[in-house]
Amino acid sequence: LQSRLPQVGTTIFSTMSALAAQHGAVNLGQGFPDFGCDPRLVDAVNEAMRAGQNQYPLMTGVPALREAIAAKIETLYGRRYDAATEITVTAGATQALTTAILCCVHPGDEAIVIEPAYDSYAPAIVLAGGTVVPLEMEVGAQGYSVPWAKVAAAVTPRTRLIVINSPHNPTGSILRRADLDALASIVEDTGILVLSDEVYEHMVYDGERYQSVASHPVLAERSFVVSSFGKTYHVTGWKVGYVAAPAALSAEFRKVHQYNVFTVNTPMQHGLAAYMRDPAPYLGLSGFYQHKRDLFRAGLAGTRLQLLPADGTYFQCVDYRAVSSLPEAEFAQWLTTELKVAAIPVSAFYSSGRESGIVRFCFAKEDATLRLALERLAAI
Ligand code: PMP
Ligand code: GLN
Repeated sequence: LQSRLPQVGTTIFSTMSALAAQHGAVNLGQGFPDFGCDPRLVDAVNEAMRAGQNQYPLMTGVPALREAIAAKIETLYGRRYDAATEITVTAGATQALTTAILCCVHPGDEAIVIEPAYDSYAPAIVLAGGTVVPLEMEVGAQGYSVPWAKVAAAVTPRTRLIVINSPHNPTGSILRRADLDALASIVEDTGILVLSDEVYEHMVYDGERYQSVASHPVLAERSFVVSSFGKTYHVTGWKVGYVAAPAALSAEFRKVHQYNVFTVNTPMQHGLAAYMRDPAPYLGLSGFYQHKRDLFRAGLAGTRLQLLPADGTYFQCVDYRAVSSLPEAEFAQWLTTELKVAAIPVSAFYSSGRESGIVRFCFAKEDATLRLALERLAAI
């Protein structure tokens, strides 16, 4: 069989989790919490199952969940999406991202991807027959930033889509209002669409206010806004997410979605809809994770690992060049097998495999897990 994705192997996340398990390492590699979710959420799902909510839901998602999502977006970001025509529930953010790409990228189209980038964007663009145009973020003392003038210069008549992600995996950087304005001035008066991956929207630190694309009128008109309950409610294995987009875009999204997965599991949707009535869990998430970020950063401050800024997400990047000259993948393997703390090489997020001497740790862990990892990293 001739591969549709000849460049692609097993994801770095699966690879590093397997290595961590094999060597009994503390797994700060793959991004997922090592603690449970709120038992009230599990109860809400059980209740839905017992109430007989176990058959296909509507193709677009359970209405109560779409309503709850629309209400949350309106309250937080000030834009009203019509739950009937503009919100679609998906099998995690991954499916939302892939489906959004498949519904708008035609063979020969170009899609600009800001790198380092989460690893699912590029393969979806390739499967759609599009061309990935990678554009590297700049990294300085202030951390990572997007050079918008370079993004503007990368636009061609074939550009169909720009993929952005804030808060950003793996760098932990966030886009501020000026960034969204810069992007808006690039796409305004063009046919370019925006795919905004906002799965870490509720993890923004130091009192910073999250800038969703949904809150930006020019961008919201031409954007697919994607999020995931897996991140927000500590249930990465449930694989429930959503996309919010203007009706015309949502209609095209749904054409692909109905033959992609058709629907997403019913009892989880009912449980999430009930649980979302209380905003406290997602409003409290930044504080919850800021504590873990600060604990982890304080522990690493005495090492030779140089901490990069971490403004959002549950990831902390470190520059290890004072410790080792190994390439990133080898350094991450060494950390995992010798120090018994797993990390992810940031080179895996570049199509070029660019080496910058930086690895990513995930701090979505029990404080005790973080302390154990810090003990093991103390000697570095
Ligand atoms: N986008 C980003 C930036 C992510 O980090 C992840 C999760 N690792 C996803 C999308 C996928 O989310 P989900 O598990 O809901 O498919
Ligand atoms: N998003 C998670 C991460 O960046 C992992 C997702 C996955 O394993 N595919 O670590």
